Amino acid sequence: MTRKRYNAFSDELKRVFGCRVHRVSVDAGFSCPNRDGSLGTGGCIYCGGRGSGAHGILRDAPVAEQIEAGKGVMVRKYKAKRFIAYFQAYSNTYAPSETLRKLYDQALAVSGVVGLIVGTRPDCLPPETVGLLAEYVRRTYFWLELGLQSPLDRTLELLRRGHDSAAFERAVAACRDAGIRVCAHIILGLPGESREEMLDTARVLNRLGVDGVKIHLLHVMKDTPLEGLYRSGGLELLDRDAYVGLVCDFLELLRPEISIQRLTGDGGHDHLVAPLWSLRKFEVLNAIDCELERRGTRQGSRFQQRKRSNR
Ligand code: SF4
Repeated sequence: MTRKRYNAFSDELKRVFGCRVHRVSVDAGFSCPNRDGSLGTGGCIYCGGRGSGAHGILRDAPVAEQIEAGKGVMVRKYKAKRFIAYFQAYSNTYAPSETLRKLYDQALAVSGVVGLIVGTRPDCLPPETVGLLAEYVRRTYFWLELGLQSPLDRTLELLRRGHDSAAFERAVAACRDAGIRVCAHIILGLPGESREEMLDTARVLNRLGVDGVKIHLLHVMKDTPLEGLYRSGGLELLDRDAYVGLVCDFLELLRPEISIQRLTGDGGHDHLVAPLWSLRKFEVLNAIDCELERRGTRQGSRFQQRKRSNR
C-alpha cells in the first residue's frame, strides 16, 4: 500500500483484490444526448470529439476485443493479472437496458476482468437503468462515474452541460437508494468561479454523500469551443503551484472516506493545447504529496475541524 495522505483508489483495489488491478478503457459506441441532438449537438465546451478523455481506444472493435488489446498492453508493461473494464467514452448508460446488459456482460466475460466502471451523465439514468446497474452491484465490483464538473448552475450553463446541478443531486440520491457507489467528476479552475466557490464543491460532495471523486484540472483540448475561448484570450488557466495548493485545500475539506480516483487532468500529448505542465502528471501528483506533507495535513483534516466548530 502507498502511504498517501488521501484515500487513494489504488489502495482500495489492493485491499479488495489483494493485488494491483488495472483499468482498461472501453469505447462501446455510445453517443451522448448533448451531442446527438436530444439536448444539443456541440457537446460540452471542453469535450473533445471522442467523448471526453477517451482517446486511443479502438471505437469500432467489439468490447471484448478492445479489452483484450488493453490487457495485452498492461500485461507487457506491468505483468498485470486483474482488470476492471472502464466504459469511459461518451455516456455509457445512454441506451436501452438490454443493449447495456449485453455490452457490460461482454466485458465481464473476458478472463481476468473482475469489475466494471461505467461513466455517464446524471440525466442518462432512468429508473430502469438504475435497476440494471444495481444488478451489477450484486454481481461484480462496480462503480458508477457521474459528471458534475461544478455544482454552480451558472457554470454548468457556461460549459453547455445541458443539465443543472439538481439533476446531479437526483441521480446521486437514486443511486444511493439502489446501493450503487458513485464517483463524481469535478473540474477545478473553471472560468468565472472564485477559489472559495471551487472549494465549496468539496462541501457539496460531502453533503450529497458521494463515495468517490475524480478531480480534473481544466485543460484545453484541440478542436473544442474551449480552445477558441483560450486562443481569444478569454480564458485564464491555473499554473501548477496554484492548482496544487487548490487540490490540497480541496482534499482537506473532503470527508476522509471519499475515494480519490484522480487528482489531475489527463489530456494526452496529441490533443492537449494547454496547460502543458499538466502533461507531467507524476510531477503534479508528487507536488500534491509534498504539499500535504509540508502542511502536515491530509484528506479530511478540515472536514473534522468544520464539524467540531459547527457544534
Ligand atoms: S456529457 Fe461527456 S460526452 Fe457528452 S458532450 Fe459532455 S463531456 Fe462530451
